[in-house]
Amino acid sequence: MCNEESYLKEGSCFSRSKLYNIEPIGLNTAYTESLTSYITRISKAHSVYVGTLIKLELAPILDKYYILNSSFNGGNSFYSYTHILNGNGKNADDFANALSEMVCRKDILFTTMLSYRNVIPYQGLSKNTASWCPFCLEEWRIANKPIYMPLAWTLKVSNICNIHNTRLVSRCPICNSKIPFLHRKICNGYCPRCRAWLGRGYDQNVSQLIKTDDWEKWVNCNIGELISMAPVISILPSREILEENLKHIINTSNNITRLSKLTEIPKSTVWYWANGKTIPRLDKCYCSAIDKIDVLSRW
Ligand SMILES: [Zn+2]
Ligand SMILES: [Zn+2]
Repeated sequence: MCNEESYLKEGSCFSRSKLYNIEPIGLNTAYTESLTSYITRISKAHSVYVGTLIKLELAPILDKYYILNSSFNGGNSFYSYTHILNGNGKNADDFANALSEMVCRKDILFTTMLSYRNVIPYQGLSKNTASWCPFCLEEWRIANKPIYMPLAWTLKVSNICNIHNTRLVSRCPICNSKIPFLHRKICNGYCPRCRAWLGRGYDQNVSQLIKTDDWEKWVNCNIGELISMAPVISILPSREILEENLKHIINTSNNITRLSKLTEIPKSTVWYWANGKTIPRLDKCYCSAIDKIDVLSRW
């Protein structure tokens, strides 16, 4: 017999899931798995290609013409845009909900940025193609841990690995291809074009990749905290609180012109923020030193 409380606590339910009820990796941490990585692992667990899972299970439920067309007639129209599945727009919502039902887990939502849909615009949020830390991948492989792609690595504002103090890599070391988040035969950690392993050993004595700076580290820590906090925030962050905090920041910077000069963001853009007409993209937030506290709580 299952313990009811622990079963529910794990985000599971008692109805029988259509796909294996696999927990996303790294929930409640900065290294939470991304939705596209989770889809890839679910496919592997069922011994089918990602393309097969999408064609036979997800596409019919989602009833989206462009996915069905791409799945049955070939072409990459769907796979070229899979970066949006890790973001906070409608496609991320549709895929996360569909998968949530199929694996019977409520925590699939946290493999996307949907928790912040009210306060972070989806434009400019996700990278178009994958990037990764080759040293993290290699360490997981050696330790026999599951290979996956964290959500943080999919975001445009995150370009470094704080653990290894290096820049993320965005091209296959063998064929130099950029790698889509999903592909019909993709496997986490491998190039879908030439099948090369994307990990690499770390040698502290050899100059590795370009060193990172403090500002980038701050941004990375901040985005990691936002991702790790998503499962514990009881109410979705609201746009009203963000707007109030933006006004507070603009007031303490004295005026719009000064903040515009400090951040090199056009004055008209800051004016729109100050008057609640638009909200800043995540990269612009960090240019203005607006951090997670501004997004989540009142001053
Ligand atoms: Zn790393
Ligand atoms: Zn390659």
